[in-house]
Amino acid sequence: MSNPASSKDAIRKDWDTYFMDIAYMVSTRSRCPRRHVGAVLVQGKKLLGTAYNGAPMGVHDCLEAGCMIAEEIEVKTVDGVEQVFRKQRCIRTIHAEQNLLLFTDRANREGSTVYVTDQPCWTCANMLANSGVVEVVYHRGYPKDSDKVYELMEQKGIVFRQIGPYSAPEQAEMTVTS
Ligand SMILES: [Zn+2]
Ligand SMILES: [Zn+2]
Repeated sequence: MSNPASSKDAIRKDWDTYFMDIAYMVSTRSRCPRRHVGAVLVQGKKLLGTAYNGAPMGVHDCLEAGCMIAEEIEVKTVDGVEQVFRKQRCIRTIHAEQNLLLFTDRANREGSTVYVTDQPCWTCANMLANSGVVEVVYHRGYPKDSDKVYELMEQKGIVFRQIGPYSAPEQAEMTVTS
């Protein structure tokens, strides 16, 4: 026999799923075809801000003008040998995490959590590390910057974690161009 209260609990989303679903819905506003990223700011279970990756307001976006691809070169020492890595990024957009910082107040960020659909890149992680946020939860990995981002977050004492078993809302899923 099913008890109505417990069957309701079974479909009730846990907080991680609830806020990550919102981040995914926010990401559908993005107009960069390479990657739709959404981020939300949460303080004490309250939603205090949402943002997605995009060109500044009032200027051409990636769908109108195409992505603006830049190639970055990074020199890393692997097993004592210097190696050169090349990375391509769309630099037309302001990243979701950066827009979130532009549109929220410092006071609202102190002690807060950011849910973001994608693991932050190095620049976003660096900014988040100085933003007052104490926890970052992401879903899709971004291996290009992962090692140094994890190291930074550990040094800062920011909880940095990939969400547990999770699938994005169907209407927000996309194939990501890395
Ligand atoms: Zn783009
Ligand atoms: Zn970024």
